[in-house]
Amino acid sequence: MDHEPPPAPEPAPGQFRCPTCGARQDWSDVCRRCKCDLSLTVAAHRRRSQLRTRCLAHLRADRLDAALSAATELHALTPDDDATRLLAVARLLHGDYAAALQLLAGEKLDLPSVRSGHGT
Ligand SMILES: [Zn+2]
Repeated sequence: MDHEPPPAPEPAPGQFRCPTCGARQDWSDVCRRCKCDLSLTVAAHRRRSQLRTRCLAHLRADRLDAALSAATELHALTPDDDATRLLAVARLLHGDYAAALQLLAGEKLDLPSVRSGHGT
């Protein structure tokens, strides 16, 4: 018998899964089932949402330094696919092509940093 159990269904948008007991629920500081303190999880989720929104607003307004800063903090907090793509875009628009490629390749290549300059 090498059947794996089917993956648990993803929580609906606006919900999450308690990291302790796995109960699906709305965002709350206390788990509805196991009463675990989830305030740090909620705070991290809130911060992630703020950083993502801020980064996109900076990109829209062509504030590339601020966008890169927000994307870097977002990626440090939650290094998931979405944060990785956002950081790669920020690095590309900032002119750091090698760092963007390294990030997307998911490995540390020992390439020199390539930055755009004003004239050569
Ligand atoms: Zn729980």
